Amino acid sequence: MIGHQAQQEQMKEAIRSNRVAHGYCFEGPEAVGKKKMAFNFAMELLCRQGEGRCGVCHSCQMFAAGTHPDFHVYLPEGRSLKREQAERAIHELQIRSYEGGYKIFLFDDADKMTASAQNALLKSLEEPPPQTVIILVTANPQGLLPTIRSRVQSIRFYPVDEKELVAGLKNRGVDADTATKLARLSEGRPGHALSLLESKEFQALQEASEQALTYLLSPQSLKIVPFLALFEKRKGEADAILNDFLNFFRDVLVMQTTREEGRILNPARCIQVKETARRVSESAIYGIIEQIIQTKEQLRRNLNPTVGLQQMFRIIQEEISGNDRRHSF
Ligand SMILES: [Zn+2]
Repeated sequence: MIGHQAQQEQMKEAIRSNRVAHGYCFEGPEAVGKKKMAFNFAMELLCRQGEGRCGVCHSCQMFAAGTHPDFHVYLPEGRSLKREQAERAIHELQIRSYEGGYKIFLFDDADKMTASAQNALLKSLEEPPPQTVIILVTANPQGLLPTIRSRVQSIRFYPVDEKELVAGLKNRGVDADTATKLARLSEGRPGHALSLLESKEFQALQEASEQALTYLLSPQSLKIVPFLALFEKRKGEADAILNDFLNFFRDVLVMQTTREEGRILNPARCIQVKETARRVSESAIYGIIEQIIQTKEQLRRNLNPTVGLQQMFRIIQEEISGNDRRHSF
């Protein structure tokens, strides 16, 4: 678990002091760690070996294997979590715990429960059978009925501090530069950082984007040939590469206005960012950003991508070299 120390402590304290609530709502941004925390909490509630989750008792083993009979997870089926699903859960709620301890019901994306499903569940929150814990997990707590919200204890999750997230990623064997980049790209959401890292395409895309940027910043207009060839080869990722360009020029602006290296999204590019910030004027950078956004829009609308990219390449090179000329006089 990366981050959320206070929330972890709060849940542990609830178990220690035997003050576990019947209903919780874990709320906070997507992929920030709510579900991970809900799973850990459930595993600890069910563990047979005193405090924490031992990982070796029968209960922990079943939990880890996803076969614990007293832990139930409900996800939306399709776009919503329907009344039938809530009714299945309520039926299950009435049955005594198989292992003689808690019974735990986790509703992921709980805001996707239809009003009818929420109303069905409401009664169980009002008069819960003993040792039942219902955990609602949601990035959008406003999607829950006020009557539901008033009967559960809210546990709020916030983006994880950058330093903590970087440290957590480094503990998982990620190198420092990549960890910093992932932490910033994911905006403090560990789940998002990890899924970026795990996506097979992440590294390949990084390299392609790096190469494309080098062509773009090169003073030779002939580089347009390999530039277009690269986009041709990585067709499906044009938008991601353009987003990376936007991040780069955003970094250039940040460098121009704050001179703080620590704010750069991609520290591996620090030298390139500084160099561009020195060479190109602020207004030209805004022009470039505008051009990239327009090209993204053209690609999205499926207009001839080669023409759009060609135009973008020329305009950006003009902006950059125009500035060079101005500076050399
Ligand atoms: Zn255990």
